[in-house]
Amino acid sequence: MRQPMPIKYDDEKCYQFHTKDVPDRCFVCSDNSTRLLIVRHIESMMLVHLCPDCMVNDTSGYLLDNTRPWLGEKGKI
Ligand SMILES: [Zn+2]
Repeated sequence: MRQPMPIKYDDEKCYQFHTKDVPDRCFVCSDNSTRLLIVRHIESMMLVHLCPDCMVNDTSGYLLDNTRPWLGEKGKI
């Protein structure tokens, strides 16, 4: 019986985080909220961490991206 292979995606470049993004801080206000959302920054089309407040304040600038499951540590939203 074949072992299940870890899922590999060939679209990794579509899932890069913004160069200025810090994993445990909000991209906009730098708040280290315990509940950060991973969203797509529409202007750069890169992923950033956002606190719920900033997400609500600028819903047109960011996009929730749940097109695939997150693997590893960054999967904890
Ligand atoms: Zn924020």
